[in-house]
Amino acid sequence: MKQFAVIGLGRFGSSLARTLIRMGYEVLAIDTNEANINNMADVVTHAVQANALEDGVLKSLGIRNFDVVIVAIGQDIQSSILVTVMLKEIGVKKVVAKATNELHGKVLERVGADIVVFPERDMGERVARWLVSRNIIDQINLSPDYSLIEMATPEKFLGKTLQEADLRKKYGVTVLAIRRNGEFIISPGARQVLEKNDILIVIGQNEKLKLFETTD
Ligand code: ADP
Repeated sequence: MKQFAVIGLGRFGSSLARTLIRMGYEVLAIDTNEANINNMADVVTHAVQANALEDGVLKSLGIRNFDVVIVAIGQDIQSSILVTVMLKEIGVKKVVAKATNELHGKVLERVGADIVVFPERDMGERVARWLVSRNIIDQINLSPDYSLIEMATPEKFLGKTLQEADLRKKYGVTVLAIRRNGEFIISPGARQVLEKNDILIVIGQNEKLKLFETTD
């Protein structure tokens, strides 16, 4: 099973650590701040009050053996960059680093972060999208251009077959599955009729999806 280490238990780091634990993973949490460590001591597998930048700290915790290490230091940009460099030097395979702005993100990438996340920016985008589209339930970005979305079936397609709805031709999107009463209809056929309360799992280019998810 994958083992995670989270460095920095601010709002982002602690929420991430909690979620991983809830999903059944082991999490080592590191923070210099005593209050943050105390808050999370009962939640995570190990909570260590230490400065990740101090000589020997990361090595003594065996950080190299973790599958994924998340640098969740936001405000202190310098520390976030230095910790990322140290982790890659030690030989951690996957370093995920949180960026507070575009420039910070670029530097993190340059120094070797494998994945750079922008929680504030991404959440802003998500909320904006959610506010303007009534249908969308969830979205997974597969690449910068393609996504997988889960959405309520637009009203005008109810009672129609997938063939009649002609989504691929008219909207350039593909229905991979339909969730109906908690069950999945995988790879639905052309004669499948769309019913009220059906949830569509749709794949496509972001631009096409955007048009599709706001149709009424
Ligand atoms: P957020 O915006 O997610 O709340 P913050 O930047 O406020 O993130 O929190 C970052 C956390 O990282 C703080 O709790 C801070 O104590 C911790 N931190 C900062 N630098 C280090 C370091 N060198 N080693 C360990 N923890 C650190």
